[in-house]
Amino acid sequence: MTVTSILEKYGNDQLNMMNILIDIRNSMGYIPDEAIKLIAEKMNISEVDVEQTRSFYHFFTNQPSGKYAVYLNNSVTSMMMGAKEVAEEFEKLAGCKFGEVSSDGMIGLFYTSCIGMCDQEPAALINGKVFTKLSRSVVGELFAAMKTGKTVEEMITVYGDGNNALPLVKAMVQNNIRKEGPVVFASFESGKSLKKAVQLGQSAVIDEVKASGLRGRGGAGFPTGMKWDFCARNEGEHYVLCNADEGEPGTFKDRVLLTEKAKMVFEGMAIAGYAIGAKEGILYLRYEYHFLQAYLESVLAEMRNENLLGTNAGGKAGFNFDIKIQFGAGAYICGEESALIESIEGKRGEPRNRPPFPVQKGYMNKPTIINNVETFCAAVKIIENGGEWYKGFGTQESAGTKVLSISGDCRYPGIYEIEWGMTITEMLEMCGAEDVQAVQVAGPSGVCLNPEQFGRKIALEDLATGGAMIVIGNKRDLLKDVVLNFMEFFVEESCGSCTPCRSINVLLRDRMEKIVNGEGVKKDLADMDEWGRSIRKLTRCGLGQTSSNSVISTLENFKPLYEKRVRMSDEFDSHFDMAKSVAESCDYVGRVPNSN
Ligand code: SF4
Repeated sequence: MTVTSILEKYGNDQLNMMNILIDIRNSMGYIPDEAIKLIAEKMNISEVDVEQTRSFYHFFTNQPSGKYAVYLNNSVTSMMMGAKEVAEEFEKLAGCKFGEVSSDGMIGLFYTSCIGMCDQEPAALINGKVFTKLSRSVVGELFAAMKTGKTVEEMITVYGDGNNALPLVKAMVQNNIRKEGPVVFASFESGKSLKKAVQLGQSAVIDEVKASGLRGRGGAGFPTGMKWDFCARNEGEHYVLCNADEGEPGTFKDRVLLTEKAKMVFEGMAIAGYAIGAKEGILYLRYEYHFLQAYLESVLAEMRNENLLGTNAGGKAGFNFDIKIQFGAGAYICGEESALIESIEGKRGEPRNRPPFPVQKGYMNKPTIINNVETFCAAVKIIENGGEWYKGFGTQESAGTKVLSISGDCRYPGIYEIEWGMTITEMLEMCGAEDVQAVQVAGPSGVCLNPEQFGRKIALEDLATGGAMIVIGNKRDLLKDVVLNFMEFFVEESCGSCTPCRSINVLLRDRMEKIVNGEGVKKDLADMDEWGRSIRKLTRCGLGQTSSNSVISTLENFKPLYEKRVRMSDEFDSHFDMAKSVAESCDYVGRVPNSN
């Protein structure tokens, strides 16, 4: 397709900026400067307005990325499972380094952070298709296939399709469901809950969700019924957004729920739409899950045919509700709800200042609820069985179940639906983990626990989590393989709009590197602790407020590992003290939160 025809397809509409850029990228392999000019001209906006969106997202390159663009996951689990060897093999065969395109233009090699495949690493996207469990020999075979001009679809056929039961899902992806719990993975009759909801009435639906004690399953744990209530009370058009942008390394539960329980997710969105009086729902899906598009569109079409979406949805006269899918383009920060809204509106995914909150002014400045994929699934079962039934699972303060995605050094990585309240020790037994050095709870923004803490409970009142659990065995170098990798991730993923987030993450990453390289001194530990605590208070959104958690929690829980690697003197280190001075000169200390 030409740029002009893509623009025409979307009516030159600025609100469709993401779709336009994605289509150009998919059809040309990159987004050339000429395309930016043409978009600006047709939309009657400045080139800078277009460029700022293009330059924000990982997958929007402005240079050709090769006939086969390889994006290899370099997040913690992938590296633990052998991504370094896979990268070496790609480089050897392609004759170019990562970050480059081979001289014949055949292959481009790039790193990307988590692509949602931590249970089957090392994994890569090649021309947008997922390839999992890579090894040197698989890379050799893929490279040979590229040489003969095979398409990525043909390569997937050769290597096996993990979802044979779903012909529209063409990817080497396995679901690895290890434990089916009593809520999300219980038997499900499509349409039953929506039909019940529209009989109950809007406020009764909200009351039932409130009574269940359901709290957001993305990690923040805000009470779902309260969010729906706040939103419903605001005037104007309302919107329902589903956050399926799980970009936190170690998280892959939404991928599995959208594959196995797509109808349940969409029905949950429809129930929410009915409760708050919305007409439109949008599933914001990460670019890495493009392989699910055809399948999810077919599910939506089926639900329209069954009158569960569209005019008089669920058989309720006047309830007209439909759902569309909006793809992101590779930016972890878009999992933050206000950044997600900006992205859907076609802009850079930069978090907004709050208040106003999305329930007041969200998508298109209208009252909007944003919930996680798993939250919508739970809401369906709550309407079916009642809030009291749901409260019967879990703990006093954390009602219900939680879907965990467990990866790393364990025999059975995959998806587990547990009741809140399970201890880490029980979890490790469940996933077949032995000889464990640490467990990273809630991904890089969470905490790193040592074995003495394995009696703690997975629950919002103790270890709150969106579901990511990474098991780290004793053979790993915790500081190098995990903490340094996490800090590199945050440096890469900071949107850059607050100075403390932009500068302190770099300082923390550099100090970790220095320590890992055996050049650290005692003072580095105190500096990292101080800066790590400062950034929590001085940044606008959750990314900056949690990015130092792995440093702080390992300084607290694994102090001897640091002390073994640094010179325990107060030796003055001019190079790094200078870096601190530079950061201080940026005037981040004492800055009022949310002032950026
Ligand atoms: Fe962006 Fe970081 Fe500020 Fe969040 S804290 S708005 S990611 S710069």
